[in-house]
Amino acid sequence: MIKSFLLLLLSACLLCGQTKMSPEREAAIKADLAGRIDRMAKQSQVMVDSVFSFAELGFQEFETSKYLTAILEKEGFKIERGIAGIPTAWMATWGSGKPVIALGSDIDCIPQASQKPGVAYRVPMLDGAPGHGEGHNSGMPMNIVAALAVKEIMEREKLPGTIKLWPGVGEEQLGTKAYYVRAGVFKDVDAVLFAHVSSDFNVSAGPGGQNGMVSVEYQFKGESAHAAGAPWRGRSALDAVELMNVGWNFRREHLRLAQRSHYVITNGGDQPNVVPQNASVWYFFREADYEHVMDLWKIGDQMAQGAALMTNTTFTSRVLGTAWAGHFSQPIAEAMHANIKKVGYPAWSETDKNFAVALQKELKVPVTGLNDQITELRLPAARLPGDREIGPTGGGSDDIGDISWNVPTVTLRYPANIQAGPGHSWANAIAMATPIAHQGVVAGAKAQAMTLLDLITKPELVTAAWDYFKNVQTKDTKYQTFLRPDDQPALWLNKKIMDEYRPRMKETYYNPDKFGTYLEQLGIAYPTVRK
Ligand SMILES: [Zn+2]
Repeated sequence: MIKSFLLLLLSACLLCGQTKMSPEREAAIKADLAGRIDRMAKQSQVMVDSVFSFAELGFQEFETSKYLTAILEKEGFKIERGIAGIPTAWMATWGSGKPVIALGSDIDCIPQASQKPGVAYRVPMLDGAPGHGEGHNSGMPMNIVAALAVKEIMEREKLPGTIKLWPGVGEEQLGTKAYYVRAGVFKDVDAVLFAHVSSDFNVSAGPGGQNGMVSVEYQFKGESAHAAGAPWRGRSALDAVELMNVGWNFRREHLRLAQRSHYVITNGGDQPNVVPQNASVWYFFREADYEHVMDLWKIGDQMAQGAALMTNTTFTSRVLGTAWAGHFSQPIAEAMHANIKKVGYPAWSETDKNFAVALQKELKVPVTGLNDQITELRLPAARLPGDREIGPTGGGSDDIGDISWNVPTVTLRYPANIQAGPGHSWANAIAMATPIAHQGVVAGAKAQAMTLLDLITKPELVTAAWDYFKNVQTKDTKYQTFLRPDDQPALWLNKKIMDEYRPRMKETYYNPDKFGTYLEQLGIAYPTVRK
């Protein structure tokens, strides 16, 4: 018994000896990886431009998913479609054995953000249509390039390990990643390398500084009546929506600074002379952590009850999205940061810089051009004195948070956009099918690929990541989903909008067989700036 245990130990050590490589060998392989990725720049540009031209809203990413999975399938990845019951979600898998590393990024776009790329002022491609006003067209192309380069090295070096790729579907709704977790999609995964477009090139460790969130739609029900002939017989569901909003806006003053809450009226009735029997309002409730998000949600429910009482209406509610505030793995972030330093920013051309300056002038924001300085790794922030009283001051959310509380995760922020736009805007789309995005994606892919290689060749990094996850990150905080057992992904969202615009958008899908770039296809001189 003891003898066989010793034998096992010995063979395990032999194995780790096999995969361990010298610093010189590692540097050579990473240089090889970078060279491979440079040679994939064309393939990368075609993917970035194609997904930009598809511009699909959350849960409706059908063209994008069909396109990306076809590429991966051709490269030998096995595709599982419709994961977690979400038609546009998928998991692509290649390789075998441990470790299992999963690369993800979001693929959906922003309503009414349609914008001609390469033009430094507002010109929609198609007025009112959705567009990549956050740059989510670049993340999966970046991951695919990184994965394909590492796959070649793994084949050549006969390295064991499994690479997975998956898209963030409906991220603008924070709509799917908690469902991926609930469906067990990351059960066998050792680490997640997530990526998000940015104007910076960095990664952070510890709490991401974002908020957690639940998004809830309240649907009120009243009585219809002739609004002039017999208004006393009506009970207006729209009145309830308005009173709920008034109540919420008064309460807002007495909430913590961390909270961010916002709403849109998704149904305000049909026409003024019919008392609305149905009306609904969709809220985002954001706060720093699970407990505070739950508190905010409870206050929202109370407002809805109050509004229903005042108007003699009733209401139901449904969850449309959720997100935990992210927490990122320090050991993996340190490894990735070292790789980011190795790669450095793209060598921006004068044309790229002029384009960035023109947009910054157009938007009247500080004229800083394009970023080119690597900053220090942001480590888990030390609590500031007075923090306890004021609490965190809040921000946006990303449902990568849910995954980060289940598997050691980092988010690579790669420099494929201009620091200028307000986010979720046409202004954040204009660089996303230009050389800025193309070069930023190549740089990002190198850092992502090198970190993927680190995780595959250094079992001690995976061990350190799990040690941090178990003994630091989740020591006092345990993940519990915001989802109630009956909650289901909001698959119907954005269908109507895409049905309206997609036929016309198809006319301007990128055709890489005929045109070198999307800018060329659109006949746009780069950069087009105001005279
Ligand atoms: Zn995003």
